[in-house]
Amino acid sequence: MTEALMPTYARAPLAFERGEGAYLYATDGRRFVDFSAGIAVNALGHAHPHVVAALTQQAQKLWHVSNLFEIPEAKRLAERLCAHSFADRVFFCNSGTEAIEGVIKLARKYHHHNGRPERTRVITFTGAFHGRSWTALSAANNPKHLEGFGPVSGGFDQVAFGNLNELRAAITDETAAILVEPIQGEGGIRAASTDFLRGLRAVCDEFGLLLLFDEIQCGMGRTGKLFAYEWAGIAPDAMALAKGLGGGFPLGAFVASEAAAAGMTAGTHGSTYGGNPLGTTVGNAVLDVLLKEGFLEEVVRKAAYLRQRLEAMVARFPAILGEVRGQGLMLGLKCVVPNTEMAARLRDAGLLVVPAAENVVRILPPLVIEDAQIDEAIGLIERTCAGWAEAA
Ligand SMILES: *Cc1c(COP(=O)(O)O)cnc(C)c1O
Repeated sequence: MTEALMPTYARAPLAFERGEGAYLYATDGRRFVDFSAGIAVNALGHAHPHVVAALTQQAQKLWHVSNLFEIPEAKRLAERLCAHSFADRVFFCNSGTEAIEGVIKLARKYHHHNGRPERTRVITFTGAFHGRSWTALSAANNPKHLEGFGPVSGGFDQVAFGNLNELRAAITDETAAILVEPIQGEGGIRAASTDFLRGLRAVCDEFGLLLLFDEIQCGMGRTGKLFAYEWAGIAPDAMALAKGLGGGFPLGAFVASEAAAAGMTAGTHGSTYGGNPLGTTVGNAVLDVLLKEGFLEEVVRKAAYLRQRLEAMVARFPAILGEVRGQGLMLGLKCVVPNTEMAARLRDAGLLVVPAAENVVRILPPLVIEDAQIDEAIGLIERTCAGWAEAA
């Protein structure tokens, strides 16, 4: 029989039965240290007791009612996200790509609302990834993802990531907004510099554009602050969230300042599932843990330790590993050897990582990772590199 699942993914020949914190247990009984965290989704690792309790309690009570009615759990999560960010308004959806659709619609509506309906174009950057919807693919303009799907949808102008001169030259009377990942994830863990992010803020202020951040991967505590933009000391006008927000439950959101969201009035946008009681209860439970006194400080401490140990691996195996990049627990190991081969060998050794562009493997441990588990993972990297060096 042919495979019933559409073969759009190059899956590793491996399935799991259960997870606990930073560990995954395969159906064949093997145990893995999970430094993939479901691609930065399982912020609290697997089966976190507080989140499991919240989910199971809510599951007995109410899952879904639709947005025809008030949803107190969603209201509470929105208020908490606003209290801990620049935002005043939150819209819940179910995935990252929908959150991206949301910020782009918001930007166009903002200008329309303010009497500049011609401002519809969004500037994006090389190496970007914003999801797989038509709009998100057109925004990122990655030829690999667009191949065979015909012409892109209009409305986007792309410039080099990090280049403010090129950016300024691309602004026209039709420009509505700038959309950027403060740290590119799929693009190979490429962090925008603080100067670049501040420059974007200044350009947006100068030209009356909205600054849209895609923090789908780098947000929700991944960098050691609740949101990556905090490190730059500036704030966007709107931001897309997903991945860590639901800790494994499909939950996305876009958040915005009151001014930026001014056009998003009743009837302008919607989602059937978005912000349902089950999903937002889980979101609140994840946030309970992220906001605990000292939790993010501990992420920063552990991240520094992990980074230092990875740097030591790079120094020891220069023919195999090139450099460590990224911030907090969103790290990339640029490989000299092919990254997909590295990921496969690490997997065979018992460590799960995620390949990205620029020959990088992403190191994305759950934020609850412990020092001893970091040591365990480093041991597996060391053994894998040593075996490789010997064979070469
Ligand atoms: C994962 C990701 C998306 C897309 O999210 P989906 O939930 O897969 O739609 C968009 N932007 C960034 C930066 C991401 O990492």
